[in-house]
Amino acid sequence: MKLSQFNIVSQDSDNKYIIYNTFSTGLVTLDKNSYEKVIINKDFADFSGLPYLLENGFVVDDDCDEIAKVEAVRSAIMKKTIIQNIVILTTTDCNARCYYCFENGINHVYMSKETADGIVEYCKKKYKDKRIAITWFGGEPLLNYEIIKYITYKLIEAGYELECHVTTNGSLVTDEMIDFFEKNYIRFSFQITIDAVNEEYGNVKRYIDIEPQKAYERTINNVIALIKHGVRMMIRVNFASSKIEHAKEVYKTIIDTLKVYDLTKVNIYMAPLSLPGDKEIISNFHGDLEHPFLQMVKLQRKEGFPLHDLYNEENEISLLSAYNLQPSAISCGMNLACRIVVNADGVLYKCHRLVGKREFSVGNVFDGEDETNRHLMFFHDVHITDDDCRKCDILPICQMGCSYSRFTYGKKQKCHRIRQVKSELVRLYYHALLEEHK
Ligand code: SF4
Ligand code: SF4
Repeated sequence: MKLSQFNIVSQDSDNKYIIYNTFSTGLVTLDKNSYEKVIINKDFADFSGLPYLLENGFVVDDDCDEIAKVEAVRSAIMKKTIIQNIVILTTTDCNARCYYCFENGINHVYMSKETADGIVEYCKKKYKDKRIAITWFGGEPLLNYEIIKYITYKLIEAGYELECHVTTNGSLVTDEMIDFFEKNYIRFSFQITIDAVNEEYGNVKRYIDIEPQKAYERTINNVIALIKHGVRMMIRVNFASSKIEHAKEVYKTIIDTLKVYDLTKVNIYMAPLSLPGDKEIISNFHGDLEHPFLQMVKLQRKEGFPLHDLYNEENEISLLSAYNLQPSAISCGMNLACRIVVNADGVLYKCHRLVGKREFSVGNVFDGEDETNRHLMFFHDVHITDDDCRKCDILPICQMGCSYSRFTYGKKQKCHRIRQVKSELVRLYYHALLEEHK
């Protein structure tokens, strides 16, 4: 017998150790003697808790290949058609000019009707189930609202039922648009990013169609209009690691502004940015502050995390997810063959962040995907090919990390945001569980 490579150990007090297994999600506490015997000395003889440790994957047989177990789970999920999802960039143009935009420097293209027709034909060939989930993306997708309507009507005409998610800066939303989504989609949701409030919001977003002093009011009024229509929505507060304090203030101010409305269909959350620069790497943070990700989790929990499932208010996303300890079969949805991204010019990619970087394209809507493309194959590969990842205790959560970060920044930014704070997250999770079961 041997210890699982997926155990995370967290010391809670002088005589209490918490062990969490990232593959099985089992949690156990050991006193100091048991911890030293089992975890430090790997001595399992006459240990009364051994059956529990075996059952929950903390201890495994000597010949157990844990990487093969991870790969088996990956394979089972990656071969399934879980959701037929197409991310469509209606345009790469935007009415804002955010400093951190990953599309900075790429050509501004508006999708043509010819490309839109190509998408409809591509969907007919690729998606055999009659339900498609579209993610409208940009640039600012609502700048090309006409093409959204065009594709929507064509797909409905082709017999598809549609759901969609609109990733937008929120500045161009109108009542007519909300009405359109309500009429034509079985269900739909919005994601709006707000990184600052009041005039500072205008200075960060640098809109070209409104003065900075008026920009925040326009967006927040649209957010309120969406809430009043009962639209499901995610409000995302991006943050650079070194600016965590500022992001926390923004997050609290937004909650404060919106809490007078019914927020049962709204999730407000913080998200770390992937930025170049050693000080901004969340998985390898070395500033003087408490780790930004830990600060984020603590604040969100205080303000009411876990989030609820946007389509089922009864269904809270689990405590495990709130502490980012939930295992996943894949590093992101883009590992699934049934998901693809289409740029405004009809070129296909496996991730929206790679759009416009032609070396990462995997085909186009007219000819389909090139199955031999090495980037496509990397996204769909069930094998754990990175030696560091094969030894990693959080592999079942991270699954080799974000491919975009890996391609763009190399090994430096490949790791999961919880890497440095995993033990503390386990401790916090354990106490939250105790609190819940009081
Ligand atoms: S590869 Fe990275 S950036 Fe792209 S969708 Fe997946 S997690 Fe997001
Ligand atoms: S990318 Fe880093 S954190 Fe993720 S599995 Fe690999 S080594 Fe672990």
